[in-house]
Amino acid sequence: MGMTKKNYTRNGTILGRLAYTMAINQTTGCHEWTGATAKGYGRFTYKTKFCLAHRASYEVHKGPIPEKMLVCHHCDNPKCINPDHLFIGTARDNARDALTKGRLKGNPPPPPRGEKSKSAKLTDDLVRQIRQGGVGAHWARELGVSEECIRKCRRRQTWAHLD
Ligand SMILES: [Zn+2]
Repeated sequence: MGMTKKNYTRNGTILGRLAYTMAINQTTGCHEWTGATAKGYGRFTYKTKFCLAHRASYEVHKGPIPEKMLVCHHCDNPKCINPDHLFIGTARDNARDALTKGRLKGNPPPPPRGEKSKSAKLTDDLVRQIRQGGVGAHWARELGVSEECIRKCRRRQTWAHLD
């Protein structure tokens, strides 16, 4: 199969639910969920099933979401359920997207496997991510380096060649 199929139907029930529980932001064009949320995402229950509003919206408007894929926001507004603002991405895409937008501050992703040893050296990618934000102590713990190392990297005392 490769696709998840949920009970979202076009009989108006889910569509009605979505249309009823959102407000259009005239500035951004976002369809912002006005109901309950889970971790910032709109949520609701449909036939006893827990549903995330942006995923439901994607499925009713655009079709099934491939297995293990996420529905991401072009607009970086978790409450938004405007199908035009939604796109399919992998967890990796989403993390990178969030990092670039600074949404994951204080919660950096684990480093790539194999680089977690004591002799772990930072990579260009990691340095850019570290400079994007996050708690220095968290980065240090995740990467197995000293906090001083993180500070130097941010002050550009090290890795100065990177922007
Ligand atoms: Zn939006």
